Amino acid sequence: MLDPLPILQSTFGFPEFRGVQRQVVDRVLAGENSLAVMPTGAGKSLCYQLPAVALPGTCVVVSPLIALMHDQLRAAEAIGIRAATLTSVDTNQAETIARFRAGALDLLYVAPERASGESFRTLLGQAPLALFAIDEAHCVSEWGHDFRPDYRLLRPLLDHFPAVPRLALTATADAHTRADILEQLGIPQAGMIVAGFDRPNIRYLITPRDNTTRQIADLIAEQPGPGIVYAQTRKAVEQLAEKLAATGRSTRAYHAGLDPHVRARNQADFVASEDMVIVATVAFGMGIDKPDVRFVAHAGLPKSIESYYQETGRAGRDGDPAIAHLFWGAEDFAKARQRIGEVEPHRQAGERTRLNALGALVETAACRRAVLLRHFGDHPPETCGNCDNCLNPPSAVNATEVARKFLSAVFRTGQSFGVGYIESILTGQSSERSLMNGHEALSVFGIASSPEETALIKPVARALLLRDALRANDFGGLEFGPGARAILKGETEVALILPPKRERRGRRGSAA
Ligand code: ADP
Ligand code: ZN
Repeated sequence: MLDPLPILQSTFGFPEFRGVQRQVVDRVLAGENSLAVMPTGAGKSLCYQLPAVALPGTCVVVSPLIALMHDQLRAAEAIGIRAATLTSVDTNQAETIARFRAGALDLLYVAPERASGESFRTLLGQAPLALFAIDEAHCVSEWGHDFRPDYRLLRPLLDHFPAVPRLALTATADAHTRADILEQLGIPQAGMIVAGFDRPNIRYLITPRDNTTRQIADLIAEQPGPGIVYAQTRKAVEQLAEKLAATGRSTRAYHAGLDPHVRARNQADFVASEDMVIVATVAFGMGIDKPDVRFVAHAGLPKSIESYYQETGRAGRDGDPAIAHLFWGAEDFAKARQRIGEVEPHRQAGERTRLNALGALVETAACRRAVLLRHFGDHPPETCGNCDNCLNPPSAVNATEVARKFLSAVFRTGQSFGVGYIESILTGQSSERSLMNGHEALSVFGIASSPEETALIKPVARALLLRDALRANDFGGLEFGPGARAILKGETEVALILPPKRERRGRRGSAA
């Protein structure tokens, strides 16, 4: 069989294959159908680009984002690969079609909606094909976190050319999604190649939010080098960027609402810098190649474990120590649950499983890395020595009694008051409001007034919201959720992980 190594060296300029690249490339060259599950940065593109150069005919690459296609096109052309994109924004479509027919293209990038069309199938019949590469293949699965219906329509095209090998690629697939990709795209179980997901140089830290700006400012003060701070909304990005600029570190904002020139300049400034912080929505980072990012902070809960892994994976791609710090609040979970209630009913179960997996990662007293890697099907050691829980083991307390008192107080006050008010009732703090409401006469008034119990009230409220035992209404008032009953009836215990004392400056490994 064809030896791919000389091509790797001459065309791509790399001395050797990385990780599973060789395995994937060999399967493609042997004409077999495969699914490559490789984390971001592992070098997925090479797995189809090299066969595209080595094999006669054109490699058709299905990719969901036009911007990403154009990045890939530029990178491929820069090393002399004959490539083109066929998208609605390209003005040279006729020329591209002519090049394809003449057999003068190694790579042809298309969006799924075009690839699944009749005329595209006809076109592909007019010149030899090397392979089909289906990028971001998790989009084919309704179970996946980024379902695109057009991906479902690809199968007839692939089946129309049964002799052309197919290679599906994804960075983000749990076991269920992987099985779905294999089935949807007609790839045998034996064709799945999974790369190791561990990023040992990334230190994972997960902390409840109390003051986002201060917490992130502390992180910035402790961690030199470029960093990315993810915030959930454009407004949050702007406010946080403005406040963090006061730390003295140069700071930029990045979100879809910015003027395109400003946005492009901020991104370019960040890529070129050695000490800049960019505050961004999750749109930032796709397709940027900056290996020396020293930290990624999340000011709020990511969408899923997959997103968390992908976003934190932008830290430390050079292999030097880096930090991933997630700051979360119970309201993040409440909002996520609300959003799940709004998606189509048949997708809710999947979304709920995904959110619970994220909840388990956030709540665990065990090694974060172990939880993360198990989610991706790995069998990691029990401890890693490089996450908050391994470095500083938290203590667990049984907070069932306080949780029951909290739920009783919510119930007796009519399920319409917020955390602060419930806390004042439980601790027996008299106020004009509690007097007026007649709540000081309730049996729950002042029933959790010992210092031990008082200290647990806020963490308990957080845990109850996270478990859907409580839900916050639009005005912050707490109501019972489906998980409340079992706790009140004594069927479920509430164990609380108490975060250790906040790490002091200088405790973190410096990434010099
Ligand atoms: P992914 O799509 O998996 O996130 P890319 O295909 O963008 O990753 O590759 C990530 C980086 O790794 C790129 O800068 C690429 O040039 C580089 N790379 C890929 N394969 C190799 C290799 N065998 N040796 C060294 N660098 C590589
Ligand atoms: Zn660990």
